[in-house]
Amino acid sequence: MAETVFITGIMGQDGAYLAELMLKQGKRVVGGVRRSSTANDWRLRSLGVHNDVELVDFELLEYSLIHRLLERIQPNRVFNLAAQSFVGASFEQPLFTSDVDAMGPLRMLEVIRAVNPDARFYQASTSELYGKVVETPQSEMTAFYPRSPYAVAKAFAHYMTRNYREAYGMHASAGILFNHESPLRGQEFVTRKITVGLARIANGTQDLLELGNMDAKRDWGHARDYVAGMALMTEQEKADEYVLATGVTTSVRDFVDMAARATGFDLEWSGEGIDETARDRKSGKLLVQVNPAFFRPTEVELLLGDPAKARAQLGWNATTTIEELATEMAEADLRRTRDTDVAF
Ligand code: NDP
Ligand code: GDP
Repeated sequence: MAETVFITGIMGQDGAYLAELMLKQGKRVVGGVRRSSTANDWRLRSLGVHNDVELVDFELLEYSLIHRLLERIQPNRVFNLAAQSFVGASFEQPLFTSDVDAMGPLRMLEVIRAVNPDARFYQASTSELYGKVVETPQSEMTAFYPRSPYAVAKAFAHYMTRNYREAYGMHASAGILFNHESPLRGQEFVTRKITVGLARIANGTQDLLELGNMDAKRDWGHARDYVAGMALMTEQEKADEYVLATGVTTSVRDFVDMAARATGFDLEWSGEGIDETARDRKSGKLLVQVNPAFFRPTEVELLLGDPAKARAQLGWNATTTIEELATEMAEADLRRTRDTDVAF
């Protein structure tokens, strides 16, 4: 019988790519979907896998539902990808974020301990744990310094995953994943906000792109590469913790430049701080400006990962450059914004 893989957050970016990968490997894929008045499977559809996965009602806040589900599904592997995943929103919703992102994974671990202790578990940890970084680049050995309610909640989940591995011998791994993007990224995240915004400007349906901190630097990779790393973690003889990253860091400003080129603009920057702007050299039109509303109360200025352990032990590598990523996202959004009927 095919192995059963249960993915929480299957409607999200990583859930969709992971479902695609698991299906390619011949697994039975069951995906947890949170009750919503506008349930939207556009990501699964865009990968052409929406008919091949089994979707079940799922809510990370609901212990007894998770218990009943796992008893019924009897998964061999569980990937806990569901989360309130937007750092910015976590400052406005710290209690909700903690219930979902900290207590949620603990509910999963408790149910697995009770119901299927042999199931392999993956927890979606994050480079946001490094926050106000104590060293660069960041590896599995780097101390955490979380800088948002999101990151603090994810730290709790990270340590719980480690504790269940050590206390109960569970095969529970955590991937400390640096930012990973794709045409399926949510529009609240900066890369996608940039590529959608520029595409809408090119198509005449938006005037201006307003951003926060342009100096922030992130180690951005492609989500498709990163879900392959998650899968590899659950295939190892022993569960462990791994950093997945590209080893290259790029500022928000440089990402804007790359995406603008792929959208057909050539940006000229001027001014500094909140007065910084970018105009298109050809038309002279103002395209980008800073809006302090997008600044965060505490910012993570720089992330740069060292994926040496994943490379050596998992044989994993990021295969997509930042230029390729920006171009793929920009081209996808140019296509989509021309076809306004498509949800994305
Ligand atoms: P997304 O935000 O795209 O997907 C998260 C999914 O979780 C959504 O489908 C969402 O459902 C679901 N969800 C949210 N709250 C609940 C809940 N209470 N119960 C059940 N489901 C819920 O995130 P990504 O795919 O980008 O990320 C996957 C995981 O990896 C997340 O845990 C994220 O924090 C983590 N991560 C992501 C990184 C990245 O760069 N992408 C980097 C490091 C870690 P709905 O569709 O209804 O909103
Ligand atoms: P994060 O690393 O998980 O917080 O991913 P985001 O894509 O949300 O943010 C990456 C960086 O871009 C952060 O340092 C943000 O402060 C910065 N940034 C600058 N302008 C914006 C913006 O308009 N929206 C978002 N989401 N981030 C922005």
